[in-house]
Amino acid sequence: MTETIMEKQKTIALIAHDHQKDDLVEWCVKNQENLKQHFLCGTGTTSRLIAEATGLPVKSYKSGPLGGDQQIGARITEGEIDMMIFFWDPLESQPHDPDIRALLRIAVVYDIPVATNRATADFLITSRYMNDRYSHQLPDFESVVSRETEKILKSER
Ligand code: PGA
Repeated sequence: MTETIMEKQKTIALIAHDHQKDDLVEWCVKNQENLKQHFLCGTGTTSRLIAEATGLPVKSYKSGPLGGDQQIGARITEGEIDMMIFFWDPLESQPHDPDIRALLRIAVVYDIPVATNRATADFLITSRYMNDRYSHQLPDFESVVSRETEKILKSER
């Protein structure tokens, strides 16, 4: 295992499906004093709506159905996103369902906090870790890959 530090100032990804957008925007407005201490990013439409409603800078990735979830997933693997507020729609199927599943999966692999509904988002934003450094242990993925590569190479010799 290897120690991974989340700094005081977090990078937070914000995503909401269409029927959840009003709710997430309202939550961001309500919590903007807290959110402005951090770096914000999000999928195309969600990020723009939040930036418009709060006046805060929100880095925009592509819209979810056009690959935005995959971009955010990639940033998580690179250690560039610390947490995610993702209000997904439990009542409607999405064309990019495989991307959503992949994003939620990768967030678990990299042990980042994820809120998928408002109550969890409220708990997260009021956590003492929000404005403090947080240390967590992640598997040492690099040595796992090296070990596996070595094993395959040996078996081929
Ligand atoms: P959007 O993407 O913010 O561009 O609407 C969110 C999604 O549907 O995954």
